Amino acid sequence: MQQINFNAISVDQVSIPLLKEKKVELDVLRLDKMHPEISGNKWFKLNLHLEQAKKENKKTILTFGGAWSNHILATAAACNLHQLESIGIIRGEESAALSFTLQQAAATGMKLVFVNRTDYRDKIIPASLHNCDYYHINEGGFGEIGATGAATILNYCNKEAYSDICCAAGTGTMTAGLINASVASNSITAISVLKNNFELEEKIKSLVTNQQQRFSVIHDYHFGGYAKYKPGLIRFMNGYYSHTNIPSDFVYTGKLFFAIDDLIRTNYFAPGSKLLLIHSGGLQGNRSLNKGTLIF
Ligand SMILES: *Cc1c(COP(=O)(O)O)cnc(C)c1O
Repeated sequence: MQQINFNAISVDQVSIPLLKEKKVELDVLRLDKMHPEISGNKWFKLNLHLEQAKKENKKTILTFGGAWSNHILATAAACNLHQLESIGIIRGEESAALSFTLQQAAATGMKLVFVNRTDYRDKIIPASLHNCDYYHINEGGFGEIGATGAATILNYCNKEAYSDICCAAGTGTMTAGLINASVASNSITAISVLKNNFELEEKIKSLVTNQQQRFSVIHDYHFGGYAKYKPGLIRFMNGYYSHTNIPSDFVYTGKLFFAIDDLIRTNYFAPGSKLLLIHSGGLQGNRSLNKGTLIF
């Protein structure tokens, strides 16, 4: 298993005509480059959990996810690196053809246990695992420990330099971590990738330790819902790649880049703003798209 390469993380400056026109500067923190499987925010969200599990002498990590989950693959790979066993409770019956993500998770040593959608929703642990002494991590890594780990993402940039820090949000754990690590001059903008997930603000607040910090959640760029997309998103992602050389994924970072581009266009950010976008990884999920859909 390949080690995580923190030296590969870079801050890339984007220069496209729109930014010049609107007098906005934009950098991208490239967490996607640190590892092919444990990419982006997932390592930061998992790391303290794995350390805690070891402290508690647990040998096995158990968590939940869907067939294309970045969290599932990252957990499998991170456990492999930490020499921990991993169990993934997977939503839906086992299909004859496993997704690429699940094939890789299994190849990395994760034991996959499939449960029906109702049991998955209720987070029911199958009876076959009741005797197993595992350390539990929430679906998507939601929670305080994940947020504490995610706060260290900002160690990889000069946060004082930015007026705005922008990220994609699923559970909001990374967003909370960024808020907790930010300085007073930063304002955090999270793009929700789920449809009408209006509880997200409260969930983020439940993990935030510096309550006076400014943040906003924008709900207008979900493209139909979680892991849904429209041709316009794919076109944008291909265009963004050809202009900036930065690849994105259609579940999270594609929606983030699209949203921020649109918000800059519509003068959401004042002239003189300096934005940092968190490239939170997740590129492996693009393998669920038909070949040729994306140019990268
Ligand atoms: C999981 C994930 C997110 C969302 O992180 P949360 O902490 O759940 O909000 C964002 N981007 C990528 C690429 C992810 O895999």
